[in-house]
Amino acid sequence: MKIVLQNLTKAFPSRNKKSSEEVIAVNNFNFEIPDGKLIGLLGPSGCGKSTTLYMISGLQKPTSGRIFFGDDDVTELSTENRGIGLVFQNYALYPHMTVKQNILFPLQNLKGEDKLTKEQMLERAYQAAKLVQIDQLLDRKPSELSGGQQQRVAIARALVKMPRVLLLDEPLSNLDARLRLQTREEIRRIQQETKITTVFVTHDQEEAMSISDMIVVMKTGIVQQIGKPQDVYDDPANLFVAKFLGTPPINVFEGQVKGGKLYIGSDAVLELTNVADQPVTVGIRPEGFLLDDNGPLKCKPVNVEVMGRDVSVVSTHEASSNPFVRSIINADNKIDIGQEFVRYAIKPHKIFIFNKETEERIYFEVK
Ligand code: ADP
Ligand code: MG
Repeated sequence: MKIVLQNLTKAFPSRNKKSSEEVIAVNNFNFEIPDGKLIGLLGPSGCGKSTTLYMISGLQKPTSGRIFFGDDDVTELSTENRGIGLVFQNYALYPHMTVKQNILFPLQNLKGEDKLTKEQMLERAYQAAKLVQIDQLLDRKPSELSGGQQQRVAIARALVKMPRVLLLDEPLSNLDARLRLQTREEIRRIQQETKITTVFVTHDQEEAMSISDMIVVMKTGIVQQIGKPQDVYDDPANLFVAKFLGTPPINVFEGQVKGGKLYIGSDAVLELTNVADQPVTVGIRPEGFLLDDNGPLKCKPVNVEVMGRDVSVVSTHEASSNPFVRSIINADNKIDIGQEFVRYAIKPHKIFIFNKETEERIYFEVK
């Protein structure tokens, strides 16, 4: 089931009674979510992710704009009639019911032609439990389960009605690091097995990048960029997106384009064409540095952090916007932090420049 968001906007009245200014939680969101895909809706806290999800679910009504499931305009449809499965951060299971009863619950209120026999309900519940691998735990109460198991029950409960669309709002945030990794792989597997169009909300870029077919990056209610995770990482539309994706994060410098050269401080790091002279913000991915005795970028080494296969070289540069510059270098390289400078050449496809005011990307060609 494809989902179409058309000029979707949500304004909330200001919480401050004295101010008449409203909060635009979601601002003119346009996107056609392809059928059967997993979309990661990504951005910092407060950027409008949940509001978008709630509008898709029907829990909140858009101020303007429309929502389609396939060709059906569902904008005015109630949550119950949209055929969606919802999973929240806090599993929201019924504590007095067993796992089985929790999963069966959504099926017991089905009416008319959707009504199921007892046997059909049990079969559906069992299939959903099996899919999320909790079929051994059906007689337990939620309090007798780990966080990860509880979240699986919540997912089974969302799937048991065979929804057209699965909506997940930060479903892994309450889990510890290891379970988070494991459960996100599970969600990916379940999504691929069921092929249910899924919207997965998270503030964790790594989580979104690792399991999504496409990501949508949002900031203050406004969509910044939509694309395949690798494409967005490799080709960020603006400084915000460049900074939001990647660990360690991109290195940001004050720079300048002058006479066909890109300067970081006094280091001319690249020759480029098609860009007029101007001050710019420069971003270099940590994996974009090459140790090179004749390299143009001169940093003062501070520390070398061992990461196993790679090392992270921590250094300083006078034009860096952050206290430290972080590069990721193959561990076979020997770095002497006693030396005055470590010199780098920069991989041209790992360096981006941005307009200093608008922070929009400036595209260039390497000479
Ligand atoms: P996210 O899920 O990305 O953290 P939300 O969608 O929850 O963000 O919120 C987006 C913005 O809308 C925030 O500024 C938030 O304070 C505001 N907001 C959310 N829900 C309401 C509400 N019911 N009333 C007023 N403002 C709200
Ligand atoms: Mg939220």
